[in-house]
Amino acid sequence: MELLSPINEVKGVGEKTTKLLNNLGVYTVKDILLFFPRTYFTYPIISEHISEDLINSVVVFKGRVKQQPRTHKTAKLDVTSTVVDFDRTSVELVWFRCAYIQNQLQVGKQYLFYGKLVYENNRLKVVQPQIFTEDKYLLLQKEIQPIYSIVKGLTNNAVAKIVKSIISTIKISDNRLPENIIKKYNFMDYESAIFSYHFPKSYDELLRARKRLAFEELFYFVLYSRLQESQVDFKKSIFAISRQDRLKEIISRLPFALTKGQVSTLDEILSDFEGGYVTQRLIQGDVGSGKTIVAFLAMLNVCLCGYQAAIMAPTEVLAKQHYDNFVDYCKKFGLDIPVALFLGSQKVSEKKANQIIVDENQACFIIGTHALISEGREFNNLALVITDEQHRFGVKQREALAGKGSDPHYIVMSATPIPRTLAMILYGNMQVSTIKELPSNRLPIKSCVISEKQRKTAYKFIEDQVKEGHQVYIICPLVEASEKTEAQNVTEYVEELKTVFGDRFSIAMLHGKMKPAEKNEIMDNFANGNTDILVSTTVVEVGVNVPNATVMMIENANRFGLASLHQLRGRVGRGSFQSYCILIDSGRKKSKRLEVMIKSNDGFYIASEDLKLRGPGDMFGVRQSGEFNFKVADIFDDAMELSDAAKEVDAILKNDPTLSNNENIRSMLDDFLVDQSYML
Ligand code: ADP
Ligand code: MG
Repeated sequence: MELLSPINEVKGVGEKTTKLLNNLGVYTVKDILLFFPRTYFTYPIISEHISEDLINSVVVFKGRVKQQPRTHKTAKLDVTSTVVDFDRTSVELVWFRCAYIQNQLQVGKQYLFYGKLVYENNRLKVVQPQIFTEDKYLLLQKEIQPIYSIVKGLTNNAVAKIVKSIISTIKISDNRLPENIIKKYNFMDYESAIFSYHFPKSYDELLRARKRLAFEELFYFVLYSRLQESQVDFKKSIFAISRQDRLKEIISRLPFALTKGQVSTLDEILSDFEGGYVTQRLIQGDVGSGKTIVAFLAMLNVCLCGYQAAIMAPTEVLAKQHYDNFVDYCKKFGLDIPVALFLGSQKVSEKKANQIIVDENQACFIIGTHALISEGREFNNLALVITDEQHRFGVKQREALAGKGSDPHYIVMSATPIPRTLAMILYGNMQVSTIKELPSNRLPIKSCVISEKQRKTAYKFIEDQVKEGHQVYIICPLVEASEKTEAQNVTEYVEELKTVFGDRFSIAMLHGKMKPAEKNEIMDNFANGNTDILVSTTVVEVGVNVPNATVMMIENANRFGLASLHQLRGRVGRGSFQSYCILIDSGRKKSKRLEVMIKSNDGFYIASEDLKLRGPGDMFGVRQSGEFNFKVADIFDDAMELSDAAKEVDAILKNDPTLSNNENIRSMLDDFLVDQSYML
């Protein structure tokens, strides 16, 4: 077996599994080796005594069976139930579609039961508990279990088994990083790192594996960025773009005055254009600071000079939103500039119609997702390229768009507040503009942290806001440590909400496994005010703008990284209404991270606190926002590795700027770039 062997050549992987894996983007042996666990899980210690704290949490306890389990057949399914004694208290156990349990449990005997303990109708209950003997459980408890992002039909176990069987047969070359670097940092070898990242024997080993893998990713990422930068440095631009008076007039007709930061950023961009060199500029502005209008105005200036300008967004929802905005502006300001839109989900005929707009108009706005760069699309008069929420794209995507046309000006926009020290490494010699302040009509978002027990009060609050005509986002609890899929999880949550609110409100759901067209429709409905409450996974995190939404409630907020929480919170408070962020802390200990969220609305402050608070133990299970699409690395968690990698890259490039003496590094870099393009 080779790294690039198709996945169905692995023993035991049949047609059905192959299809399911393909849905997850896994086609080859290499893909599944790099399909790392989303998080890890260890079985909890056995609870000896019953206590109030245990209610609503996942527990394992020893229970003596008091009744012979019975199965009732209902129209839909079998329900098996029994009662066990735990610390002199009766606990009801219920299973669905598990009639065999009748014969598995014997009255009077003790077993371990693992599941979520709830209190309902005056009794303690666990639905669908797993059953273990004590010996087996104690063994299991020593293991760190990988949890993968699976799809329906696939189990964690199945994925783990496939990975194990591959690892036992394959040999992977370790010639991936320069020898001296491996020695200097005492890195474990690549193959062991891959294995340990799937099946760590201890958290310590997991950390070492992560260090090795993260370093490699960051090394090639920084290397690529540096090589790119040195190529564009001081390149003459062929586009003659001067400031247009028309722009001033349009700015004066906007429904709001631009903030100081917006004005200075736009000014810096226009000066770049006039300077005659190819621009490379990063615009950093916190969520809601109004980057879109700046992009629009910069693009407009380019169009007024007779060229095309493109903006690429990471999701269809966001691209569509930009499109609607741009069309709106054109209408309002009487601008006769066509707008073309490219989405992966469009029909061929729609794509053609949009391509005709591009081909037949010297000047036009071009908006899209990465569909802009795929499918062999050509733009022949493109003078400006902007990527929105740029950290969501792989390096390759960004470059591919910038590579269309003849060295267009290049602007990236980011709402990820990256501390200065990291930004310097990541963006090297890019020019940076910052939009510091939020528009003046904004009221600071009020945030609070509550426990799961206070959820009812939160629902009441949500009800009041909806009655006042506002809209609400609820970020669904994460699926952790269970075989449930994302889709199942959101669906169940919506069902539960419906029992709370009845059909008084319209509730919709959104999750990552939906088709883009479906997502667009749901987001459209929410943006148009047809939906009151949107229950979603973190797919709404990026860029979406619905100013009428005033509440962001985040379940299991303690499991998110601060960067994600800040992005999520930024979905509200985007209009003149008072907005609220409700963070539900489901942890046993009060989360320090959530305290930071209450203290500040300032993304830069939050990011710097995040770096301070993060210990190694925090690195797994807390989701960061996935900046730069790394498979393992995270610029916050692996800030040390990033800085080390940058140092090593700079040392190599200093002696060998074109890598002509480092053939191996060069070919690894090519591999890295190929991998990056899988990542969208
Ligand atoms: P982000 O920087 O997060 O991309 P957007 O560009 O989506 O933010 O802007 C958020 C909202 O703020 C939009 O509804 C936009 O129309 C509005 N907005 C932008 N600039 C201003 C301003 N100077 N004053 C008031 N509202 C503004
Ligand atoms: Mg935005």
